[in-house]
Amino acid sequence: MQTNDPAYNPLDDIDRVLVDEATIQNRLKELGQEINKTYAGRDVAVIAIINGAIIFVADLIRQLNIPLQLDCIRISSYRDEARPLQAPEVIDKVRLDLKGMDVLIIDDILDSGNTLARVTEMFRAMGPATLRTCVLLDKKTTRTVDFEADFVGFKIPDEFVVGYGLDFAERYRQLPCIGVLRPELQNPPEWA
Ligand code: 5GP
Ligand code: MG
Ligand code: MG
Repeated sequence: MQTNDPAYNPLDDIDRVLVDEATIQNRLKELGQEINKTYAGRDVAVIAIINGAIIFVADLIRQLNIPLQLDCIRISSYRDEARPLQAPEVIDKVRLDLKGMDVLIIDDILDSGNTLARVTEMFRAMGPATLRTCVLLDKKTTRTVDFEADFVGFKIPDEFVVGYGLDFAERYRQLPCIGVLRPELQNPPEWA
């Protein structure tokens, strides 16, 4: 990528599209119906794990016709080579009172399962009436802890993907599709 090129388009950095825009939007309608059905007559607290879930949650909640409140949390992750992978830590806490609520946690992608296992454990301690999770993407083969999400958009193979909220070094979140970066951009990026 060339950040100073006026003709630059982040889509040009994508090698392969795994899930295109129309497929995502169609699946969101189905997911929305599933969630509406599950929570009919309930009042739901939707908790998005940002930044990754930011685009997904924005589109998904516009498919929901149940009463809901939205809040966001941030998780620190230690994924660089200098430090071993540690338990993910919640660094920006939820402001809603979740006691007795139906809580739906939204993340972009389920990989090892560590993030959602840790986050659900933390939220369970707040005494919600129910606690469920929803992810746009699920890498079925990479789990290191036993965790499954209640609602899944797409199962994908074990490849590093970007777009629709998912980043590489904070870039590419704005892409409307999910794709794999061109190999020469994956490691290390010239602008890292
Ligand atoms: P887990 O804790 O399940 O291993 O990882 C979940 C988090 O890792 C996601 O919320 C996301 O931030 C990051 N992650 C895992 N796989 C990918 C991927 O393929 N692409 C991107 N951009 N992030 C990923
Ligand atoms: Mg994440
Ligand atoms: Mg990331």
